[in-house]
Amino acid sequence: MPRRENPYAGMVEGLTDAQFAELSAAAATRRCREEIGFGTFDEAAEAWKPDPPCPYCRHEHNQRDSVTPAGRRRWRCAGCGRTYTALTGTVFEHSKSDLPTWAAFVRLMCYNAQVDLAAEALGISHVTAFEWRHRVMATLGGVQGRVALRDRCWVDEMFFEDSSLRNTPGWRPMPGLSRNLLCVSVAIDVHKNPVAVVCGHGKPSGKRVREALGGRIAKGTTIVHDMEKAHGPLVRAVGGASEAHKADARDPEYLEAMKMANSLCAWIRRYVEGYVGMKPANLQEYLDWYVYLFRVRRDDERWPKTARVLRHLMLTDARYRSSRVR
Ligand SMILES: [Zn+2]
Repeated sequence: MPRRENPYAGMVEGLTDAQFAELSAAAATRRCREEIGFGTFDEAAEAWKPDPPCPYCRHEHNQRDSVTPAGRRRWRCAGCGRTYTALTGTVFEHSKSDLPTWAAFVRLMCYNAQVDLAAEALGISHVTAFEWRHRVMATLGGVQGRVALRDRCWVDEMFFEDSSLRNTPGWRPMPGLSRNLLCVSVAIDVHKNPVAVVCGHGKPSGKRVREALGGRIAKGTTIVHDMEKAHGPLVRAVGGASEAHKADARDPEYLEAMKMANSLCAWIRRYVEGYVGMKPANLQEYLDWYVYLFRVRRDDERWPKTARVLRHLMLTDARYRSSRVR
């Protein structure tokens, strides 16, 4: 078969840089529309946020009020009198980038791509990519606190080295579950809802485990765990049955019984250790993102993840603090 020439090749070659940039943006808009259903912030806002409440005082059902100089639809609040758009108060508010760029960024974040890779792939600066990732994580991290685990729930602990302690006076390597390690309490229920909460340094007390997980597990849930004593106060606080298995990594029955918890720990470890140069102080933010993504991925067939994350970002107030002024 003769090789067919691409009829657009010559046309593209003949464009100026500015024209080519416009063509590229138009192509990206179309690709974005095909992927998530919308090609611009305005199209997405029309569907996801047709009647946005006031981001300043939460007053609802306000009047339309012309458009911004950029052509974005505007509302005037009947409560406080201020004007706003569908993006005011969201992570997108002050961004100069368009929806296709954000969609591509979110898609990379769903694969936990490194910031450098995202910056390179999207043609944005490293600082911007870093800031975006922080904003997305900070905005969606709160989702973890709202879901209660229920029915049957596996509980365990995992430990990460707290590298920030190495520079403190008196630091020395210590064996076992020492104060040099950050403890993370993890839980996952039979519906595959996970939770991961940083719970201090070293081997946790029963009180610490209860405080980390207690409010996230519904009353009456059966707790499946190794025989660790520190789980007692949590089991009593939840008030359901306790199913304890003696920890023994060579016992196939134990491994089978704790498979849910062990798999979750292995996934979280792989995820956390994949982040180069993560500060231990940010561990909770990364865990929150992992848990958020775990749920989004679980439902991916029903609800494609990039669109779902973007919709959450558009509907969620981003009262984050910039990572640069922290
Ligand atoms: Zn208002």
